[in-house]
Amino acid sequence: MKPINSLVNQFFSQVGEPALSRHQFLKAAGRSVALGVVGSTIASCDKKPATTTATPPVASTPSGPVPKLPATSPPADIPADQQKPVELEQIKANTEQQESSTPTPLPPDQRVGYAVVGLGHLTLNQILPAFGTCQKSRVVALVSGSPEKMQKVATQYGIKPESCYSYADYDKLRDNKEVQVIYIVLPNGMHAEYTIRGAQAGKHILCEKPMANTASECQSMIDACTKAGRKLMIAYRIQYEPHNRMVREMVQKEQFGKVKSIIANNGQNSDNPKHWRFNKALAGGGSLPDVGLYCLNTIRYVLGEEPTEVSAYVHSTPNDPRFKEVEEQVNWLMKFPSGVQASCATSYGHHDDKNYKVLADTGWIKMDPAFPYKGLKLETSQAQGEANQVIQHNLGDKDHFATEMDHFSTCVLENKTPFTPGEEGLQDQKIMEAIYQSAREGRPVKLPAVDKKDAFRGPEPEKA
Ligand code: NAD
Repeated sequence: MKPINSLVNQFFSQVGEPALSRHQFLKAAGRSVALGVVGSTIASCDKKPATTTATPPVASTPSGPVPKLPATSPPADIPADQQKPVELEQIKANTEQQESSTPTPLPPDQRVGYAVVGLGHLTLNQILPAFGTCQKSRVVALVSGSPEKMQKVATQYGIKPESCYSYADYDKLRDNKEVQVIYIVLPNGMHAEYTIRGAQAGKHILCEKPMANTASECQSMIDACTKAGRKLMIAYRIQYEPHNRMVREMVQKEQFGKVKSIIANNGQNSDNPKHWRFNKALAGGGSLPDVGLYCLNTIRYVLGEEPTEVSAYVHSTPNDPRFKEVEEQVNWLMKFPSGVQASCATSYGHHDDKNYKVLADTGWIKMDPAFPYKGLKLETSQAQGEANQVIQHNLGDKDHFATEMDHFSTCVLENKTPFTPGEEGLQDQKIMEAIYQSAREGRPVKLPAVDKKDAFRGPEPEKA
């Protein structure tokens, strides 16, 4: 068997696209506003590491060459001139904030066709409306267990009756030529089955987070997509979102020196014990795989590093009917090879709080809120003479789901590896399993060292 580094290098040899430069990000940022001074705190860990390791290092990259897919390239069919934005005359003084560039959407019949599976909260409130903002993606099919609901939604979004499928008919998507991608928005415990069957039906798969309930399920999903020669992307919308991308840029360019500590929290007061989120088989776990995953995945993304050790505590309020099968809250620490220590918290039992703060040598970066769909706020602080200069970076709202779907569509159209492929979801799952193990056994758990930066990601996505 090849060593993991060589497999990782082999898989990511195509990673060559340059990241957005800080200049590009700052240009996109529009304006920055100076504010007052804000303080900060640092958490620490003093538990002794255990000698055993968590899951052994498994080559989490596709084995063997990926079959070549026919790259349908709409730009080749569209005159170059049509791909340029329509030029509009300037109506604001140069000193004013200008409009962002005029969109250049693909004609509807050139866009990548999506079948959305599961018509719950995320699909109806975020994903389907987001297609209205997409430039390369369109919804062409639905899959649901409720014919009445599906009929209503199909009418709202102009989807043909013959492109509406029950779960029993799911595999018939194979014969729908308009569908190139299946977007899986089902309870977590159903992601693996529907990904595997979708790939076997010849479709590319965009799968919601968390990727699945176990690392072995994640691996089977990767294997099934590789075998079918189809792409697999995990819908980590934060990795395509401009504010969080700007944080990553600042961290990796060491704009405030070396990062020492990251503190992250994602919690909310969840209700309805009958919902699948409180059922172990359907959810995989409680707050950790649902909302805590944002802390884990975003920290890995911002640093581009992988943790080598985790230490965790889990607690659930006794006799609370919500927490018979899944946990209420998890607090955990992660150690990274560069020396960064991250302290994270997640809960289903406290009032909404979704943020993180990066503490570096000469400044800090704060995202609060960091993870909701809208209204994200990015602040930085650094000394300026006798005061700390706190800057609020206002990048405006971009639809997270439209950005993420259009990235996947670009990958399908241009035959590229997605920035957040299945390997990214598998790595999170392995770390979450180590977090649970640490809490269960009352000791820190080591993880296999991964030397390469961004080892589980594809090429940087295009600018949002
Ligand atoms: P939801 O409960 O609102 O919707 C789930 C859908 O699955 C429903 O339409 C339900 O009818 C259907 N379903 C099919 N079989 C089912 C079964 N056996 N039990 C229960 N429901 C079944 O959930 P949601 O909030 O839309 O979450 C769906 C997925 O999206 C989850 O994986 C979740 O983690 C993910 N999610 C991601 C984000 C994000 O920001 N990326 C946000 C919310 C949810």
